[in-house]
Amino acid sequence: MVNFSCQPHPLTRWGYALVLIAALTGAWAQAAVLSAAEIQTLTFMREEEKLARDVYLTLNERWTHPVFANIATSEQQHMDTMRVMLERYQLPDPALPTVGMFANTELQAWYGELIARGEQSLTEAFYVGAAIEEVDILDLEKAIAETRQADLRRAYQNLLAASGNHLRAFVRNIEVQGLVYEPQYLSVEQLETILTTPTQRQNPPGRGPGGGRGR
Ligand code: ZN
Ligand code: ZN
Repeated sequence: MVNFSCQPHPLTRWGYALVLIAALTGAWAQAAVLSAAEIQTLTFMREEEKLARDVYLTLNERWTHPVFANIATSEQQHMDTMRVMLERYQLPDPALPTVGMFANTELQAWYGELIARGEQSLTEAFYVGAAIEEVDILDLEKAIAETRQADLRRAYQNLLAASGNHLRAFVRNIEVQGLVYEPQYLSVEQLETILTTPTQRQNPPGRGPGGGRGR
């Protein structure tokens, strides 16, 4: 049997240690709150939104079509949202300033493939847009399932709703030509669900683009 009485003032010593622990966790709570997986995902999503923006900017230079110009503006807002989240959790920003340049080598390689395909024809460019949105939807659904942070989940859900809008816009541009769009990454059921979802507003009425001169 343990005899506690031979230890001098155990409560005082433990009380002091607890005060120290509380002070340290308070100071580190902001930085330590995300898991390694959450950090990796957030960092990746910042660059994936940049990939979408950069592809649409580049394809708009080639084809001058409003669907690319409009959605590039939306992707800029998504990039900004991800940057705000990185800042909130004191994480470094991987995004490079140059259009078409990526820190992530897989995204860099995919960007090259997407541009090569999208420059073949305007129809191929619409397929490229749809491919990006399908992958974005799958990655965002995974990110939402993975995180326990309410602010991250809300941010990802807004991006997910917008990606559905974007996918519908690209598919509309393909189907108006009499083509039938087949999913490139999603299942047939997932695509069907998204295509039959009505367009979702990102901002409350009166707070859309234009209120602050475009940004
Ligand atoms: Zn996006
Ligand atoms: Zn998008």
